[in-house]
Amino acid sequence: MRRLTDTPEPGIPFPCSPTPTACRTTPQLFAYDVGNSDQARAQQARLACAGCPIATACLKWALANPALTSEGIWAGTIPRQRRALRRRLIDRLGADWPAVVADQDQRLRERREAARHTPLTVGQARIVRMDRELNGPMPRPRKLTPVQQRRNRARLSAGAA
Ligand code: SF4
Repeated sequence: MRRLTDTPEPGIPFPCSPTPTACRTTPQLFAYDVGNSDQARAQQARLACAGCPIATACLKWALANPALTSEGIWAGTIPRQRRALRRRLIDRLGADWPAVVADQDQRLRERREAARHTPLTVGQARIVRMDRELNGPMPRPRKLTPVQQRRNRARLSAGAA
């Protein structure tokens, strides 16, 4: 039984998917009982996970939430594989590895956000100034004539065909 509503690890939320995931649309594929599993079905689930847009984040979530993922296939892994991966994470990062990973994720998000607002460096600003001195200000984009617009649309359609 797949349970997403039990108490999850707060620092590592289940990722949002841009499309409905296979485990939501066909949950029966993802059931997995040790010693009594249909290998062909399990293989189908693994293939679905391989093409899932949130597989990496799903695996992180599944590893951080052992109580919620003690059974079934998550991110292409079976329970035994997840236990082995958790042991390796504990060896490398310590027993509180979910907090360490959540902290790293948060720092990464902050760095990405900061990078979007970082002003030009002194060197970059100098290059922009030199370019403006040599070439003048950027020309305003010309307004296209209706003929040019039609030609561009035709080119786009031809490229898309
Ligand atoms: S990767 Fe995770 S979310 Fe995606 S189909 Fe597999 S189990 Fe579902």
